[in-house]
Amino acid sequence: MLCPKCKSDEIQVVDSRDVDEKTIRRRRECEACKFRFTSYERIQPIKLTVIKSDGKTENFDRSKIIRGIEIASNNRLKREQIEKIADEVEAKITQESPPQVTTKKIGSIVIRKLKKMDEVSYLRFASVYKNFQDIDSFEQELEKLKK
Ligand SMILES: [Zn+2]
Repeated sequence: MLCPKCKSDEIQVVDSRDVDEKTIRRRRECEACKFRFTSYERIQPIKLTVIKSDGKTENFDRSKIIRGIEIASNNRLKREQIEKIADEVEAKITQESPPQVTTKKIGSIVIRKLKKMDEVSYLRFASVYKNFQDIDSFEQELEKLKK
């Protein structure tokens, strides 16, 4: 951490206190220019790694899952139902060690959960996820549902 005023890195903590269960507030003083400022520390949840289809990795972003399901559900699902799916995906990944998962796996978990919750959302999500090339494959999915 650098002093906001003179950019020195010699910073002392003069006071620390809990704001809530997850946040600590610290008063800090720059040794060089004596400028005082406040910083907040938050507990970081465990870092989850997502492996994309091109092999690149990124940090797990719960909001991406939620956005995907929201688009697929087109207001058919309640926010809490969507949150529940995101929770379940997150819980599944954290069981792995080190915690990592492929985008493919995430998609398949979401699809399984959606299938039980809402067929229309499921089909819409699956159509994007599986990159259906033509209407036939989409109809095949529909046929499977009717059975
Ligand atoms: Zn300073």
